[in-house]
Amino acid sequence: MSRRTGFFFDEYCFWHSTGLHAVMLPVGGWVQPMAGSSHAESPESKRRMKNLMDVSGLSDQLDLRSAAPCDEEALRRIHPDHYLQRLKTVSDQGGGMLGIEAPMGPGSYEIAKLSAGLACAAVNAVWQGELDNAYSLSRPPGHHCLPDQSMGFCFLANIPIAIEQAKAKYGLRRVAVVDWDVHHGNGTQHIFWQRDDVLTISIHQDGCFPSGYSGEQDRGGGAGEGFNINIPLLAGGGHDAYLYTFDKIVAPALERFKPEIIIVACGFDANSTDPLARMQLHSDSYREMTNRLLQLADHLCGGKLVLVHEGGYSEAYVPFCGLAVMEALSGIRTKVVDPVLTFIKEQQPREDFNQFQRKAIDQLALQFGL
Ligand code: ZN
Repeated sequence: MSRRTGFFFDEYCFWHSTGLHAVMLPVGGWVQPMAGSSHAESPESKRRMKNLMDVSGLSDQLDLRSAAPCDEEALRRIHPDHYLQRLKTVSDQGGGMLGIEAPMGPGSYEIAKLSAGLACAAVNAVWQGELDNAYSLSRPPGHHCLPDQSMGFCFLANIPIAIEQAKAKYGLRRVAVVDWDVHHGNGTQHIFWQRDDVLTISIHQDGCFPSGYSGEQDRGGGAGEGFNINIPLLAGGGHDAYLYTFDKIVAPALERFKPEIIIVACGFDANSTDPLARMQLHSDSYREMTNRLLQLADHLCGGKLVLVHEGGYSEAYVPFCGLAVMEALSGIRTKVVDPVLTFIKEQQPREDFNQFQRKAIDQLALQFGL
């Protein structure tokens, strides 16, 4: 079945500069500068994803849109004035390192507002029924950002901003966020900690980034208790671990919550070639996770599904994972063949590892009352 699928992007988002780094290490001292784009969070993985969509002919069959930068009122629903002012000042002064692992370049504040604006426009278009589903190629990403602290390459909390503005405009009541970026969605967790109208689910590699959280013990507080679900997976886990997690935890949690729209924090850094994590997914894993969410969205909320780009640092492989997601969302299969799919499928963990991980996931499901 083909669907009306939107793809929200803007070339300007690719102009956000993360400065001189070697993957994560600031250049200087013993760290040699790298040739070309050097920081892990470079525009290349995203631009190459869009380019592969173009040359495959898929882009022509989607509804491609840009959007206006996010307005100040929407930003202030999540971020305090003093924080926004600091972002603007550093950006106007040519950039610098903000918070924890968040390098900013000249003009990055305006680009971050555009990145959040794309997410807002994608949510609004799907909610209003202009599109069946949508992808927002937001850059910089957002899921680590706290209200008053930049973190993990994130400056504005794109998804929470999009949710809150849509709630204010259209009165949405129940929103679910499924975060499959390989790192913990700590910012989204923090922002909705006390809320029972936003279910947050984060599937991530245990002990990856950021440090200092309690994993599955973090269940939300006050009215939000039970509405935050963390699923830490063992490093080395692959297709089986993620799909089992979907069947045992994500699907029943969404069925129980009954969202009106599902938003995905879509990182591609759980793929087996990512330099910043140790998981083993391939493009068919992302295709299958998207298909499962489409089925759930069809059943629960009229198919309303929005994906917002987060991490993913393999410049060579993110495009193939991204294309698989876009093919699933739109129901259109291109002729593109993933050149390493067979190779990665042959390198999945052994059955005894999968059984061990499955037991741990079963335990978590029990703990969550699912
Ligand atoms: Zn990540």
